[in-house]
Amino acid sequence: MPLVVQKFGGTSVADPEKILAAARKAIRAQQEGKQVVVVVSAMGHNTDLLIDLASQVSDQPPAREMDMLLSTGEQVSVALMAMAVHSLGFKAISLTGAQMGIQTDSSFTKARIRKISADRIQRLLNEGHIVIAAGFQGIDEDFNITTLGRGGSDTTAVALAAVLQADACEIHTDVDGVYTTDPRQLPEARQMSQISYDEMLELASLGAGVMHNRSIEFAKKYGVPIHVRSSFSDVRGTLIVSEPESKSSAVCGAAMTRNEARITIQGVPDRPGTSFEIFKRLADAKITVDMIVQNVGHESQADISFTVPKEELKEAIKAVQTAVTTVGASGFTHDDDVSKVSVVGLGMAYQTGVAQQMFRALADAGINIQMITTSEIKISVLVARNQAQSALRAVHQSFGLFRRPTDAVEWSKLPSRKATSADLEKLVHDLRAADMEQLSLSDISLIDDQARITLVGVPDQPGLAAMVFDAVAAQGIFVDMIVQSYDGHEGVTSISFTIPHRQHQACLEVVEGLRPTISFSRVQSSQEISKLSVSGIGLRSHTSVAIGMFEVLSANGINIEMINTSELRVNVVISSSAGKQALDCLRRKFELNLS
Ligand code: ADP
Ligand code: ASP
Ligand code: MG
Repeated sequence: MPLVVQKFGGTSVADPEKILAAARKAIRAQQEGKQVVVVVSAMGHNTDLLIDLASQVSDQPPAREMDMLLSTGEQVSVALMAMAVHSLGFKAISLTGAQMGIQTDSSFTKARIRKISADRIQRLLNEGHIVIAAGFQGIDEDFNITTLGRGGSDTTAVALAAVLQADACEIHTDVDGVYTTDPRQLPEARQMSQISYDEMLELASLGAGVMHNRSIEFAKKYGVPIHVRSSFSDVRGTLIVSEPESKSSAVCGAAMTRNEARITIQGVPDRPGTSFEIFKRLADAKITVDMIVQNVGHESQADISFTVPKEELKEAIKAVQTAVTTVGASGFTHDDDVSKVSVVGLGMAYQTGVAQQMFRALADAGINIQMITTSEIKISVLVARNQAQSALRAVHQSFGLFRRPTDAVEWSKLPSRKATSADLEKLVHDLRAADMEQLSLSDISLIDDQARITLVGVPDQPGLAAMVFDAVAAQGIFVDMIVQSYDGHEGVTSISFTIPHRQHQACLEVVEGLRPTISFSRVQSSQEISKLSVSGIGLRSHTSVAIGMFEVLSANGINIEMINTSELRVNVVISSSAGKQALDCLRRKFELNLS
């Protein structure tokens, strides 16, 4: 019998009428001959209200008690939803996370799922019930209630769909599907017919709140097709599957994280091990770090900048204070008035000029870029918060995201899960018993035909990055990684990028040729650098990978010149002479996790 998981978010169960409407949808699916699991979130803004309530009682509520409190929101919804189905004359039973056997680790407020014993749900389904499952919650080994992080009901839904081998996982929400950017920010955003797991994973972790990023990790790992659609109508939505909507577009979507904060640690001794010392402390405090940029060493000192969510700044500062003392840095600055704007697309991995186009669009809108990081399928820039909205609009417009790509795939029916191979069956069997959210790495590789160019002392003004990369692109030079660091207190910044080794000389000539227009202080370059990459799924949320890389390189006395991270890959640039040694020790370190 086909099985469908239907998830209803907060606004979709905000009042009794909406609960009844959702119940009718579930009943309709059952009437069509499907087994139905409904996953629900807390009603409306109940989770926010509970958080606010806690803050009125305590400045720092213990995380365990926070989870005890927040889980009640979903418990209210499941009970009401089950009552609604009953009142309409059908069988339903509500279950909390613990009752359906969702076991997690003990990281309260951001727990990870370890395993789900689907037997009880399956039995109840076989008895003809519509099973109403509480989203966002689980239980640890000691029977403590845990929650999966804000927006975590999506992850519950996809994880249940994976273990139950559902034919479909429908995410019913207050928008018609996934758009090229948040339609509340830009009304000109366009609904996509389909988006790939990789793109959705990056977009979600860069601010597209429509899906919880970890739900996409599950979906990709276990091949769960997702259908994001409106809970208020029956129109078709957006499929999240393996393939992108368009093969020709470089960029599929843009996202903004409005509330970011930047920290810059100044005067860090330029020796192996300093990144490890700093980021280990942040990881221990479970702080999500992004946009890590290191200035190339200058008089044996470097500046390291990175961003953290604004609400984690206070904790991050505590961790940074001890790190500064340990590594002997001279101090740090921070700014909590910044936002991150990113573009994402699978096509950017093999098309040139995408970063350049983004910088040009921002320059033309008069927006100053404070930091830049790029990776294979995304480019992020940090801008002042009061310019974030205009920055998002400028890049959305520049890449023509409001327009449907001419080769966009037509909307198709969900790919059938019935065609699952024996391998998938085995995987699902394993995952009922194993650590579901365990890190999965797929590859460790070394590219060593690259060179690095750094412009030091570039004026921190709008349009500079655009000018540099327009000139480089005009000579047909292929740019891979780009980072721009923050050094605002002196009104200058530095821009580093990697290029093919054979274009090193030509590129030096191009940047020297910029001198009449840009008054930078000097050019530094390494003719021979290597890029080491660890690939997998969900690497940004599993910070252990980046930390593990820093640790191994530090233990072997290898200095890191550049870093970039994405959900799919962590890259570090090191000197070529250490490339082979670094690859060997990373392979040894991560061997156990390689799938
Ligand atoms: P739910 O409560 O159903 O989980 P959320 O509020 O978590 O709903 O997610 C839906 C919201 O996500 C939309 O109302 C929209 O404003 C926002 N959003 C952000 N980025 C996107 C995007 N790229 N496409 C669609 N919606 C988006
Ligand atoms: N109720 C939780 C939240 O508001 C989980 C969710 O809605 O997905 O974050
Ligand atoms: Mg949500």
